[in-house]
Amino acid sequence: MKIDQHTQLYGVIGYPVRHSLSPLMHNTAFGVVGINAVYLAFETRDLEGVANAMKALPIKGISVTIPHKIRIIDYLDDLHPLASQIGSVNTVLNQDGRLIGYNTDASGALRALKGKVRLEGTHSLIVGAGGAARSIAFAIKEMGAIVTITNRTASRGSALAKALGCGFVPWENMDHVDAELIVQTTPVGMAPNVNACPIPVSMLKPGIVVMDIIYNPLRTRLLRLAQSRGCQVIDGVSMFVHQGGEQFRLWTNVDPPLRVMEEVVKEALEKQDGSN
Ligand code: NAP
Repeated sequence: MKIDQHTQLYGVIGYPVRHSLSPLMHNTAFGVVGINAVYLAFETRDLEGVANAMKALPIKGISVTIPHKIRIIDYLDDLHPLASQIGSVNTVLNQDGRLIGYNTDASGALRALKGKVRLEGTHSLIVGAGGAARSIAFAIKEMGAIVTITNRTASRGSALAKALGCGFVPWENMDHVDAELIVQTTPVGMAPNVNACPIPVSMLKPGIVVMDIIYNPLRTRLLRLAQSRGCQVIDGVSMFVHQGGEQFRLWTNVDPPLRVMEEVVKEALEKQDGSN
């Protein structure tokens, strides 16, 4: 990578953020398409400082991750209508000094599901009610899915269901939903707790589609169980690469090299799996 006086700066903000594979994915993409840019990980809680730095330096774009996706909105100049409707921003574009917030989690999830399941009229269960669940539930409902939300903390789950006009089922009764699509959005099963699975095995019926948005490990216990029971499975890398691809397009106006982005992320995760 050549860094010189024209190199543009991008990054991801989060706390913590050192585990993020976004720098690897975006720097690889910049290299492949020949854009003179570098993407760094900024571990910070100071969102006002981030907004000032973006304008002063300038930083052309940032990805926003846990726990900043909602609070960042207060520091932006404008919001894309989808980000405004969802109430969550995972991407900021610095357009001539104006900071504009976007949500690419929703479209990333839809692209990951595309070709795997027809959403219209499909009974879908979203497990979790955090930021990612909010984006995914909104997106699939827009596509005509019949969405039910379940969450460990009932009040948070029912509030999200009410806000989006979805159904709600208490956590202990999630198996009452006859779901054709299950989207798992909690951190349960993520490294290092790789033997955890938040969904009763009885729900994993042959032919249904199960997506786990955790991508570390690549094959969560949920996905391994689902596959062994004849479900169609979608891993978290798919959504991760597509949300990153949409960010890349917003920042550069260039088509993202999705195949290479996926390869480099999977390679890194496979190495991590091997060393765990
Ligand atoms: P978040 O806003 O903090 O929400 C976390 C959700 O998980 C909440 O619903 C929380 O329930 C639930 N939860 C946490 N610990 C739990 C436990 N032990 N048992 C049951 N439920 C539990 O986080 P987020 O931004 O939505 O991210 C959630 C996960 O998705 C993370 O693992 C993140 O890495 C992943 N993610 C992946 C992608 C991708 O592109 N693949 C994109 C975004 C996020 P309570 O309300 O009860 O606390």
